[in-house]
Amino acid sequence: MKSRWSDQDAGRCEGDLALRVYTSRLLGAEPSLVLHGGGNTSVKSSITNLFGEAENVIYVKGSGWDLETIEAAGFSPCRMQPLLALSKLETLSDPQMAAELRKSMTEVSAPAPSVEAILHAILPARFVDHTHADAVLTMTNSPDGEQRVRELFGDRLVYIPYVMPGFKLARLCADLYPAQAGRNTLGMLLLKHGLFTFGETAKESYERMIDLVSMAEGYLVRRGAVSAGPSKRSVTESTSRELRVDIAALRRVVSDTAGSPMILSVHTDAEALAFATRPDIGEISQQGPATPDHVIRTKRIPLVGRDVAAYASAYREYFRGLGNASLTMLDPAPRVLLDPELGLGTVGRTAKDAAIVEDIYRHTMQIISRATALGGWEALPARDVFDVEYWDLEQAKVRKGGSPPVLTGEVALVTGAASGIGKACVASLLSRGAAVVALDRSAAVGSLYRRKDYLGLTCDVASEVEISRALEAGVRAFGGLDMLVLNAGIFPPSAPVSALSSDTWRQTMSINLDANLVLLRESHPLLKLSPRGGRVVIIGSKNVPAPGPGAAAYSASKAALQQLARVVALEWGADRIRVNTIHPNAVFDTGLWTPEIISARAASYGVSVDEYRTNNVLKVEVASRDVGELAAELCGPLFAKTTGAQIPVDGGTIRVI
Ligand SMILES: [Zn+2]
Repeated sequence: MKSRWSDQDAGRCEGDLALRVYTSRLLGAEPSLVLHGGGNTSVKSSITNLFGEAENVIYVKGSGWDLETIEAAGFSPCRMQPLLALSKLETLSDPQMAAELRKSMTEVSAPAPSVEAILHAILPARFVDHTHADAVLTMTNSPDGEQRVRELFGDRLVYIPYVMPGFKLARLCADLYPAQAGRNTLGMLLLKHGLFTFGETAKESYERMIDLVSMAEGYLVRRGAVSAGPSKRSVTESTSRELRVDIAALRRVVSDTAGSPMILSVHTDAEALAFATRPDIGEISQQGPATPDHVIRTKRIPLVGRDVAAYASAYREYFRGLGNASLTMLDPAPRVLLDPELGLGTVGRTAKDAAIVEDIYRHTMQIISRATALGGWEALPARDVFDVEYWDLEQAKVRKGGSPPVLTGEVALVTGAASGIGKACVASLLSRGAAVVALDRSAAVGSLYRRKDYLGLTCDVASEVEISRALEAGVRAFGGLDMLVLNAGIFPPSAPVSALSSDTWRQTMSINLDANLVLLRESHPLLKLSPRGGRVVIIGSKNVPAPGPGAAAYSASKAALQQLARVVALEWGADRIRVNTIHPNAVFDTGLWTPEIISARAASYGVSVDEYRTNNVLKVEVASRDVGELAAELCGPLFAKTTGAQIPVDGGTIRVI
């Protein structure tokens, strides 16, 4: 491991806290040190209060902040004196401790301090860094782990047996640290948990961390535990309808077991497959997490294979065995799946959660493989992992709950998504918590959003192969399909039937009608597996009930699509799939409406362009957003008992009313 310290960057930091932010981010930038909210850092300093008195404080990482992106505002300033006094108490419950930590803060608006605040306070050095370094965990979670680290690090470290994080750990360190620390002490090792280093400067503490972790990495190399390993590159992915349906069926069972729709991401790269197909996978994967706080994301152990029911009943057994009546059982669904065909599957309430689980488990796979090469993988006993999983502070979060956005955990596919109504549908679905697969002929769809719950794919919906590929990619990313928004369409130049070319007619039918048949047909087995029942939203047109002269191909294609939708609503009702149509009119902020087309349509009705824009009963202009919001709402609970409906968004059209 290389130090990322730069004198130039550090030189720009003014004061202790700025340097603390700087090296915290250096630690956070190294995923083999800390992952997603793991680890914490602090600096001791002094401030002058309102009365002009100097106060000793410690800035400690606030909960909810990630070291990788932390800012000064992410540190909680706590008074040192009450923290040191707390460390002398014999007992203190963790909820009490959290309350006391809050009281010690000099700024009420700062985030809640890390539960390790007292532990940071009792260490005498000014800067304290704490990570869950992969290489150190590989050593401590192997047979004779303690002996290995003692031999390697000698008196550079103070060694603390495993105790659950929180007050008990702080209390134990308050006793053991002064008893063991000496002239050569650079840090403190918490067995089966992680590593602390400290120093008088930010650089000293940070570089001690890098040096000690490098020593552990060197040890693993010397013992032959580090191999190049298979790459993360994806192996060629087949587009098989059966595989898609298998994945969606698995997600359905996981969601039903969890009690709400879940995202399932499937990773069939060489690294994932190599691990999932190890002959000893049934044993090595069932020991426990690399460090206890991973349990909150990954659960204690993965599901090997696809028997979710067996996993859930084993989880209930685990809870019955170790829990008590005061605890609320978490859902019994797995968060990590290992399968010889599907490789690594990761599950989360949102796509972001599933991605965090993936990051954590990829590191876990490597740690387990290396520890196994050292002689065996030994995680913490289930009891210790359970205590973290069902920690008072975590349980409080569960009870507080709060309701997530209405479409959380669900997956939508939108066609024609790069602009206009399709783009608006994507925005409305994302804002309601759905993960979205967005298709468009334009490559712009790939970069509409950079977020884990968005997958933008260039796709010509007139191509069955491309549709199949897109569905495959969507199912691999999110696990299934719950909502289908058929929006892609073309509006050919105005032409009377007497001058309408066969090519224009056929091309319009091909995009506006034929492509939607393929999308519906191929999506059906997936929609059928939707945990809450599938939903289809068809973006129709006012031209269905009120066609216009010069728009024969468009009007006929949308009318045929409408008739298709009605039949689909009839056929799929038994599969709990709702099919509804929106008929927008005169939505001018879309790619369909060029100024030329607007002028031509206005002329064909004998009105000005301005009159044409608000030519409706309410005299309002209809925007893409109005259509997108209605499309998303149609997928929600408000319309749970509506299918086969046709709803206008047009300000009221006199020819239809
Ligand atoms: Zn820790």
